[in-house]
Amino acid sequence: MREPGDRTPPFDPLAAGVALAEVAWAPLAGAPALRLLQARRLARLLRAAQHASPLYRTLLRGLDPDRDDVLQLLPTLPVLRKATLMAQFEGWVGDPALRLADLRRFTADPARIGDAYLGRYLVWESSGSRGEPGIFVQDAAALAVYDALEALRRPWSPGRLLDPWYAGEVIALVGATGGHFASVVSTTRLRRLNPAMSQRLHEVSFLQPPEALAARLNALQPTLIGSYPTAAMVLAELAEAGRLTVHPREIRTGGETLTAPMRQRLQRVFGCPVIDSYGASEFFTIACECPQGRLHLNSDWVILEPVDAHGRPVPAGTSGASVLLTNLANTVQPLIRYDLGDRVRLPVERCACGSPLPLLEVAGRSDDLLHLPAARGAGLVAIAPLALCTVLEDDAGLFDFRLEQLAPAELLLSVPGHGAAATAALERGQRALAAYFDRQGIARVRLQRRSGRPGSRGRGGKLQRVVALAADPPA
Ligand SMILES: [Zn+2]
Repeated sequence: MREPGDRTPPFDPLAAGVALAEVAWAPLAGAPALRLLQARRLARLLRAAQHASPLYRTLLRGLDPDRDDVLQLLPTLPVLRKATLMAQFEGWVGDPALRLADLRRFTADPARIGDAYLGRYLVWESSGSRGEPGIFVQDAAALAVYDALEALRRPWSPGRLLDPWYAGEVIALVGATGGHFASVVSTTRLRRLNPAMSQRLHEVSFLQPPEALAARLNALQPTLIGSYPTAAMVLAELAEAGRLTVHPREIRTGGETLTAPMRQRLQRVFGCPVIDSYGASEFFTIACECPQGRLHLNSDWVILEPVDAHGRPVPAGTSGASVLLTNLANTVQPLIRYDLGDRVRLPVERCACGSPLPLLEVAGRSDDLLHLPAARGAGLVAIAPLALCTVLEDDAGLFDFRLEQLAPAELLLSVPGHGAAATAALERGQRALAAYFDRQGIARVRLQRRSGRPGSRGRGGKLQRVVALAADPPA
């Protein structure tokens, strides 16, 4: 039997070269050429899905992907949600060797993060912000596209022109480090493919106590920090308190909404540019920031359709209740009109930077930073909401929950359902939080528990899971 994991991550030098050239060229070619690329790649995706995916063979029966108006066909295709697709995983994917039970075993083993699955796939799972984690499989061709977008669609600071491959940088990625998440898997892959980089690329867990986090970063002295916006705010507070003394040349954020006040505060505290991006497990780099500080959709490789609560397209330039994603790079696990759950707007105006790539604004990734009383002294400890979510997901197995701050030292944890299962879930959550707060040096926090909530997940599936006191100091 074939060993399901191989340490060498998937990489195809030819595909990488082609993708780099295409990604570099596309924005120079203008909007009509971008639409042509989109149409050609959509046709290729639909053909591959009809050919290899039993589910899509049925759903797309009779459809001719080679029609000139293939882009107009897209809005007539069915909308699919993660739960529906995961429930028929083997029928969805285009390779019968991909079995969900085997993939779940693979992603349950932290020792296999970044390994090539079946010798040819990179696998990651989504976090549970929209229910049970999804599993996403990409081949070398899709990875070549993600790599090229990451490398070329970033604003280039003057220093970057002299050092395009970060040879002179010490990079610290502050986030969740133990799971098969897209960012962790990608970092591990990068390090294995590029051993010289492994000395300079460091993953730093944001679950460690604030003193340990500050000490680790003080020792590393990173020149580039990548993190979630709320976790970066925790770093800003540590720096303002004089406990973190680092001097990055650049901060990169992603994974949550970066508000203008958050950006200003990070720039003020660290004295360097802050560059944001927007990605998902379903497509690694959906949009990158331009020198004007605005996000541009990588529309040559991903199609987004903002829709209302009934799944109907919203008027151009307006915000949808959710957004449908079509991934033009991944033909192994087709994502066609996949309900992503985010609220996005595609402004109709052109950006002052001159890029023909469409503008994109994202709302709704809005968990709050919590401030809880420190065990020693009169201060507050800042806790990134994603750290709390990681603790509740990983240590307590809770995905559908809400944690609200009722008073400075009082929280309410709610889960859906009733009976013994809900009670057990709340007890696991309470134990996990108590242990985590203890490690963080947080004073006794009173935790109320309630079952029977939230349970009413919105159509897009996104709920705010961590809610601070209304009086929480503004970012
Ligand atoms: Zn721009």
